[in-house]
Amino acid sequence: METFESERAPLPRNMIENSMFEEEPDVVDLAKESPSYHIDSDDVTYEPRSSRLLVRGLGENDMDEDEEDYESSARLLGMSFMNRSSSQRSAASSYTRQQPSNSCSPLSTKTTAVGVLILVLVVSMFMVIYFVPSCTFTKKGCQKSNSSMSSIYPISTSGELFPWTDLRLPVSVHPVHYNISLHPDLNSMTFQGNVSIVVLVVHETKNIVLHSSDMNIIKVTFDDKEYRFLEYKPWQQIAIKFPEDLKKGQYVLKFSYKANLSNSYDGFYNSSYVDTAGTKRVLAATQFEPLAARKAFPCFDEPAFKSTFVVKMTREAKYISLSNMPKIKTTDLNENGLQEDEFESSVKMSTYLVAFIVAEFSSHSKNVSKTTVSVYAVPDKKDQVHYALETACKLLKFYNTFFEIEYPLSKLDLVAIPDFLAGAMENWGLITFRETTLLVGNQSSRFDKQLVTSVIAHELAHQWFGNLVTMRWWNDLWLNEGFATYMQYMSIENVFPDLDIDIEFLNVRFKALAKDALNSSHPVSTFVSTPEQVEEMFDSVSYEKGASILLMLNATLRDGEFHKGVIEYLQNYNLSNTESKDLWNSLSQVSKQSLNVSEMMNTWTVHKGFPLVTVKRNGPQVTLSQEHFLLNAENGTDDSSLWHIPLTYVNDSCSVLRSCKQVFHLKDKEATLQLPGQVKWLKFNFRSDGFYIVHYDEQGWSDLISALKVDVNVLPSEDKAALINNIFALSRLGKVSFRQVLNLMDYIRNETETAPLTEALSQLGQIYRLLDKRSDLNLASSMTTYIESHFGSLMESQSWEVETSVSKMTLRSALLETACALNRPNCTTQARRLFDQWLASNKTLQIPSDLMRTVFKVAAKTDEGWSKLLGSYKHSIYDTEKRKMLEALASTQDVRKIIWVLQKSLDGSEIQNQEFPLVIHTVCRDFAGYLYAWDFMKENWEKITQKFPIGSFAIQSIITSTTSQFSTKTHLAEVQNFFSSLGAKGSQMRIVQEAIETIKHNMRWMEKNLNTLQSWL
Ligand SMILES: [Zn+2]
Repeated sequence: METFESERAPLPRNMIENSMFEEEPDVVDLAKESPSYHIDSDDVTYEPRSSRLLVRGLGENDMDEDEEDYESSARLLGMSFMNRSSSQRSAASSYTRQQPSNSCSPLSTKTTAVGVLILVLVVSMFMVIYFVPSCTFTKKGCQKSNSSMSSIYPISTSGELFPWTDLRLPVSVHPVHYNISLHPDLNSMTFQGNVSIVVLVVHETKNIVLHSSDMNIIKVTFDDKEYRFLEYKPWQQIAIKFPEDLKKGQYVLKFSYKANLSNSYDGFYNSSYVDTAGTKRVLAATQFEPLAARKAFPCFDEPAFKSTFVVKMTREAKYISLSNMPKIKTTDLNENGLQEDEFESSVKMSTYLVAFIVAEFSSHSKNVSKTTVSVYAVPDKKDQVHYALETACKLLKFYNTFFEIEYPLSKLDLVAIPDFLAGAMENWGLITFRETTLLVGNQSSRFDKQLVTSVIAHELAHQWFGNLVTMRWWNDLWLNEGFATYMQYMSIENVFPDLDIDIEFLNVRFKALAKDALNSSHPVSTFVSTPEQVEEMFDSVSYEKGASILLMLNATLRDGEFHKGVIEYLQNYNLSNTESKDLWNSLSQVSKQSLNVSEMMNTWTVHKGFPLVTVKRNGPQVTLSQEHFLLNAENGTDDSSLWHIPLTYVNDSCSVLRSCKQVFHLKDKEATLQLPGQVKWLKFNFRSDGFYIVHYDEQGWSDLISALKVDVNVLPSEDKAALINNIFALSRLGKVSFRQVLNLMDYIRNETETAPLTEALSQLGQIYRLLDKRSDLNLASSMTTYIESHFGSLMESQSWEVETSVSKMTLRSALLETACALNRPNCTTQARRLFDQWLASNKTLQIPSDLMRTVFKVAAKTDEGWSKLLGSYKHSIYDTEKRKMLEALASTQDVRKIIWVLQKSLDGSEIQNQEFPLVIHTVCRDFAGYLYAWDFMKENWEKITQKFPIGSFAIQSIITSTTSQFSTKTHLAEVQNFFSSLGAKGSQMRIVQEAIETIKHNMRWMEKNLNTLQSWL
């Protein structure tokens, strides 16, 4: 699966995006006349309950209890605007909103409630520990003790004891083949199903236990004899009990059932869109990974239970149906014109890869080797499929050759689903995408195509990594996702060198380092059992860190060895399941050097985090040491972690060419490297291929900085970007002073390359946003001046014409988005000019697509511009363009509009529900929005988690967006209280620990560095 986060699209790491240097927000004036866009009266009744607290957090001691008691939260928010925008002070009084009904509960009541809640939690935990057998939480489960422990069996829905006590299914019965017949009714949004499963009893047993969720099972037969079944809903399991042990052998288990087409984004779900004629169209599609196949048909829903599948789909004649395999026949059922499609029997695969769709779609096709590749979209968008078709064909050819195993199916469909939460899903033979990640209009540039190409490359890589060879259990999800992510960059570098994908991959590595520096991170391979824990595996560690450590390994092995090892692995485990060690063993076998791949790579998958390497040089003698790079050391960690680090380095005599690279394997806590002679400076982690951060002694840093100031080209751009990334990270850790950071940054005035410039803007932007959110206006304004002095001339020199180099577009969009957000007159004037021309030409005159978001954001600052954008948003059929409009709409500083955008994207009425995480992310970037977004999330938590599963990538993104810019004690308490009030499911999410840790870190950073910033900026 490809997760989809707002940073990924269209510029995957738009550090400077979202007006982080937005102009000061205007004071909200609700007394103004309604603007031309429609805001229902309901839309403005939303009352955040606790902005009061948040505003207090901005200056914790500024407000006394009395003020707090009578001021409505929103009014205080208005006041805070007033403080920020003195020129508009008088207008603040017009901002009057209803007093929230329950915002003034006395502290004592609140404290008591929290106390009672904690007590209840402690007692419940004690009861759980006491009554549930310890084996329930172990990897092996309770298989062996079933007979003697009947008292601990859970109670099934019927009141009888459920005969199984583990979240993982028993291994006594395996599925071999499924026949699935489905009849979705797109009018009533329900479906009927019949599934017959050929099962193999491998150990004698009295029970068959499998998964089923949210369905009404009408009849169960086992070898044609009807049986009762038991259901234990919390674990989504059903069981059939037999009076005698079932003998080893094959049997047929059948189910008839009914269910609703899901309203969330998983299972067999319904989706709708409005076509260009204004007619609402409906469709049904699936998203099963990780745990939702059980919502569409009863099944053994674990990746290791691979089977073959035959799917039959009944539909109305106006629809088509698609499944993993090619259709073999269509039968007229003569019942109200219904038809039944039957698909070929599949290859052996895991349940989460099964897929089917019933919709009105059009397609274009092309053949590659023995495979027909087709791209499907809604008929209005059928002209936007050509780029994806060409790209998929080129990449399929590349992978067929690279993996030395041909894609095994005779067809490969890529389908753009109008409302789809993930970025894409690799269902075997039927890959589903968001429209944004598959469709490309005529106006799209290479800049937009980079995203589409990346997602296609990722999903096609999964056809081998994930589909052909699958992780045994979700603890090793990285084998799927880390590999697909690595292959996506590797294949694009080979097939589409003009997409400059290396800059994007470097950003991905930096992002993984930032996430993995937290104590709440986890090892790449981690034990998981509950559905929430499984959902949480779809995170930066599995994807980005997974890809980063594969790059490091490839860079360490000799040429061609990695490639050979991968082929060996795919051939050895074709159609079966693996664990991390199987991959390392395959790679060890082909490694001709004495390198023990398993020994080295285990240190990267078993420990969480990554090493900080400290380099101290004394003439030709270099002392190297490693320690865990951990931002919040206070929580304590196992500091005995040692990594086997394939350290690479270059020096002043040879530093740019790949042949300059030298390697030293650091396995111990400390080691000495003897250089053959004198050098002026050393730079470790050549091209940032390794997953570690390097710190030099004072002289080491000074030597590198001086070298860069003399000649900006002395290092490759990746190395320069990494120096910037590392020194900011080290200042967060307290290892270098902020003075030293700014000393390095001085070289940037001479820099022209994209990677270091965008990294520098990103790092400065993060600090700016923290200052801005604390309303530290003097410092924020000093930071603005600092940025202008370092990047101003480069901003001015950017062209506004069509550009073809992706690297130049990446740099230009970052610089100009910053410039316009800083209100640099040249930038805003040009942006307005382009917007006006675009409107005047009835949108036929194109805005260069990399500048579109900058232009739209400038336009969205006025009521008129915002309304016009909203109109265009509603009518555009180009999804890439639409998302840029949506980001501009959500970047508004008008609180009424912010609330409107949040509500509409959550209820899915005028903005697709899939965009909610993007909307909340964008809203949070700016001052007005970030206060509202947190309140909005809290008050709509139930509704949000009905749409997006707890632990899912969407929920992770929503929580990070709403909390990561808090840096005060009040905010910390607010966040802690809210999540602990949710009980086990909410508070135990890893992302909540991450959020709390991030706020604490922000607080500490502010405490430490505010003074330095004041004196140095
Ligand atoms: Zn994936």
